[in-house]
Amino acid sequence: MGKKRVAIVRYEKPYDSVKKAVEMSDGLSEMPSNAKVFIKPNIVFWTKAVAFPKWGVITTSRVIEDMVVILKEHGIDDITIGEGVVAAPKDIETPAHAFATLGYETLHKRYGVKYINVMQRPFEEIDLGDGISLKFNTDIMNSDFVVDLPAMKSHNQTVVSLGIKNLKGTINIPSRKKCHNADIQRDLHYHVARLADGMPPIFTLIDGIYSLERGPGFDGRMRRSNILIASSDIIAADMVGANVLGYRADEVPHLVHAAKNHARPTDLSDIEVVGEKIEDVASVHEYDFAYSDEKDGNMPAPLAKQGIKGLFYRKYDTTMCTYCSGLNGLVLSAIRFAWKGEPWDGVEILTGKRLKPTPGMKKTILLGRCMYNANKDNPDINEMIAIKGCPPNPKDIVDALNKAGIAADHGLFDQADTLPGFFMDRYKDKPEFDESFFRVE
Ligand code: SF4
Repeated sequence: MGKKRVAIVRYEKPYDSVKKAVEMSDGLSEMPSNAKVFIKPNIVFWTKAVAFPKWGVITTSRVIEDMVVILKEHGIDDITIGEGVVAAPKDIETPAHAFATLGYETLHKRYGVKYINVMQRPFEEIDLGDGISLKFNTDIMNSDFVVDLPAMKSHNQTVVSLGIKNLKGTINIPSRKKCHNADIQRDLHYHVARLADGMPPIFTLIDGIYSLERGPGFDGRMRRSNILIASSDIIAADMVGANVLGYRADEVPHLVHAAKNHARPTDLSDIEVVGEKIEDVASVHEYDFAYSDEKDGNMPAPLAKQGIKGLFYRKYDTTMCTYCSGLNGLVLSAIRFAWKGEPWDGVEILTGKRLKPTPGMKKTILLGRCMYNANKDNPDINEMIAIKGCPPNPKDIVDALNKAGIAADHGLFDQADTLPGFFMDRYKDKPEFDESFFRVE
């Protein structure tokens, strides 16, 4: 069997660069004529309240429009853009605002493209083998061809988030939670590795005009990278993408699983890279946030640097699902604002599904229903403060922190939608971070 081709192209200008990536990879060769095409961008997060940094967090509208034009040139008329933005359950306004702001209505008017919030559409159960089944959006499953447009990022739980991981946005909320399984063998990586397995043929185009370190969200470090990576083989695209982000494929657990499931090597020996060489464009993107591990407090490094004492906030693991992850940053911000220089009295905060309480803590906050169920009877807990919601209710989180002696402010949680705007400052006066990539002019 021939090698799988992956094209690496430097992004230089609208249309031409995407066209070059499509042609060099021969990426549309498996697309049937008159195909019903589903485009899957990565719009992992959105807020209506403020402008927030998007570079490397979400797919550029530039690449989406260029891809639409190229599909139209191939005679494709039935094109749907679909995404399941991470938002509160039943929140349909935030995704609608995202799609409007990103120019999808203009794409509809100009090219007849449809766009859907997959959370408002039906799902169907797909058997991914080995006892794994997840519920996928019916539109993508019943399309003839998928154009997968992930933003190029490293990821704090999955090392990288590229073509395969991007498909997680097409499953329903219970399936997303299920992926973050507590079983060490059948964990997040094991589930993510299978996301592409039941899909129609896929063309993957990794949008690295911007890339993101310590993704998936706006609190990572954004870079202008000007790279496009394209292939009709999603595993090959992701393995090359991982290498470009500084990780061998065998350092990315879900790629190791995917390779094994498909009897593929992880050393790129069955891949032909055309265009730029990996080593000429590769740049290490750290994926993990640093934690301090001192006797009077185990916590994220920025909290330790601030001098916080008496708090044990151990690193989350892969069992903390997207919905608790979204709150985790907010809880940490609330703690930082609440610190007045007086050590707290042995407070531990536990997240996800697997962490166990540290013996000797005075108060233990169990964040989320999963953690409550995992530890509600644990004898190592002295005073338990449970937040039982799934996802946890912000008001309950503040009450729990207050009960533990951490004077968190309800106001911060009330204004949570505006917090992402504070990250804009980092990119101010840097012309390479250009919002126009996220508009359709
Ligand atoms: S409690 Fe948190 S980690 Fe558990 S399923 Fe709910 S949102 Fe996810």
